[in-house]
Amino acid sequence: MFEPILDNHLHLDPVNGRGVDAAEDFANRGGTHLLVLNKPSWHLVGEVDDADGFRETFEITVDVTERASDILPGRAWPVLGVHPALISQLLDRGYTPTEARDLMQTGLDVAAEFVADGPALAIKSGRPHYDVDEDVWEASNDVMRHAFELAAEVGCAVQLHTEGGEDFTEVVEWAEDCGLPRERVVKHFSGSHVEGPIASVLSNKEELETACQREDPFLMETDFIDDPDRPGAVLGPKTVPKRVEWLVEEGYEDAMSRAHVETPARVYGIDTEATLTEE
Ligand SMILES: [Zn+2]
Repeated sequence: MFEPILDNHLHLDPVNGRGVDAAEDFANRGGTHLLVLNKPSWHLVGEVDDADGFRETFEITVDVTERASDILPGRAWPVLGVHPALISQLLDRGYTPTEARDLMQTGLDVAAEFVADGPALAIKSGRPHYDVDEDVWEASNDVMRHAFELAAEVGCAVQLHTEGGEDFTEVVEWAEDCGLPRERVVKHFSGSHVEGPIASVLSNKEELETACQREDPFLMETDFIDDPDRPGAVLGPKTVPKRVEWLVEEGYEDAMSRAHVETPARVYGIDTEATLTEE
C-alpha cells in the first residue's frame, strides 16, 4: 500500500456528526494524515458575536483532531478559520458589512492565536462562492486579506474557500503584498488546475488524473462534511485512500509523492513521512 496518504480538507463534527469514527474509516482504508477543518461556527456553537464563540468552535475542533491523531498511523492537524458565508448570516441578523467584517477578522485573529500557540497548522478564509452586493464583496476581500496578513505574521498557510474558476492570480498577489508567499495559499475545492494558489483537488477521478499528468504541486481532498442530514452529499472519508490506490495502479506513483509528501512539505512545512509510526 502507498504511504503516506493525506486528505487536505475534511471536517469532523463531534457535536452533530460521526466525529472521530469518520477518521477511523479513513485510517482503516489506508489513510495516514488529515487536515481537519472546523465546521462553520453556526453548526457547532450557534450564533457568534464575539471572540469567545470562535474560540469555542476552534477548541471543539482541536479536541476532535487530537483524538483523530491518536488513531492514525500518521497525524492529524487542525486548520481553523471563519467560513466566508458567515457574512450573509451576520447581515441577516442586522450587522452592517463593516461590522460583519470586523467580527470575522476577530475570528481570524483567534485562529492565528491557535497557530502561534501550537495546536493549529493553518488558517482558513476566503470569500462567498455565490453572488453578493459590491460592499459585501469588498468586506469579504478585506477579511481574506486580513487572513493573509495574519498568516504572514505567524508563518502559516491559508486555505481558501472561494467562488469557482481557475484564475486566482489577483488573490495570490494580494497575499504577496501582505508578505505571504503564493505557495502558502491553497485553493480548497479545486479542479485539476488553478492559476495562482496551490490546488487542493476535490477527489473526482477525472480531475485527479489530469492533475497527475501536469507538473504542478497539488493536494487531494474530500471536503467530507460529517453531516448526518446530508449523507452522500459529498465524498466520504475513504475516498482519498481509494483514489490513491487506483492512481498508483494507473502508474501515477510519482504524482502521489508530489501530492502527499512534496506539496504538504512545501505548503505547510509538514513531514508526512517522518510522522508515520513504524509498525
Ligand atoms: Zn469544507
